[in-house]
Amino acid sequence: MPLLEVKDLHVRVEEREILHGLSLIVNRGEVHAIMGPNGSGKSTLSHVIAGKPGYEVTEGEILLGGEDLLAMEPDQRAAKGVFLAFQYPVEIPGVATMTFLRTALNAQRKARGESEYSTPNFLKKVREVAASLNIPQDMLRRGINVGFSGGEKKRNEVLQMGLFEPSLCILDEMDSGLDIDALRVAADGVNALRSKDRAMVVITHYQRLLNYIVPDFVHVMSKGRVVKSGDKDLALELEASGYAQFEEA
Ligand code: ADP
Ligand code: MG
Ligand code: MG
Repeated sequence: MPLLEVKDLHVRVEEREILHGLSLIVNRGEVHAIMGPNGSGKSTLSHVIAGKPGYEVTEGEILLGGEDLLAMEPDQRAAKGVFLAFQYPVEIPGVATMTFLRTALNAQRKARGESEYSTPNFLKKVREVAASLNIPQDMLRRGINVGFSGGEKKRNEVLQMGLFEPSLCILDEMDSGLDIDALRVAADGVNALRSKDRAMVVITHYQRLLNYIVPDFVHVMSKGRVVKSGDKDLALELEASGYAQFEEA
């Protein structure tokens, strides 16, 4: 059974249809890239999967491990293993990253019916995961994302991903605003979290990111639909020829 199955999805935002019958199948262990021009509906798809309010699904369905994802509240989806890394991470002054992570992780464990981490166990876990992803300890004491560079924000998201152990990671334009060094660091983190039990959906406008996170499948979106799917070579083809060819079709 696929991990994620999106079937003929139609989505409206403020009375306007944005996704017009989008279908996608993602299995555990796979990394899928979704590419497409600005405004093609990439972020809309990620928001609908995560359960962000403001979107109306008028047709179609989304299944996670065969279960109806659209019937679940956003926190239930997270508890079931859906993780969305936002395009623009929020800054929360006054809340230490460590405190935020602990609260979020324990909420997720509770929703899964698991016991909360004790302080020493949480510290042990977060240090282990941070070390495995080359994340400096001092980042954990600072306010969430406050004064973080673009690269540090991404590391923070990679750290959350490592802690929450999601089955489905959706990364929406994680490359936006990153210089090449920061991009490499963030991509290394994502690659370290690839596993046979986990799937990743990497959304990007540019091919560049896919030099670092090499996908198994590439899908091109245009005007609210997947118009072409292929392997990693499709991304290279796009880099050479652009999106215009799909706009016509
Ligand atoms: P992408 O991520 O591919 O750039 P989006 O999913 O952000 O595309 O947007 C797809 C289309 O939906 C665009 O035309 C955008 O203007 C529209 N859209 C997205 N969110 C909203 C919203 N909250 N209100 C009105 N229109 C929206
Ligand atoms: Mg956009
Ligand atoms: Mg977007």
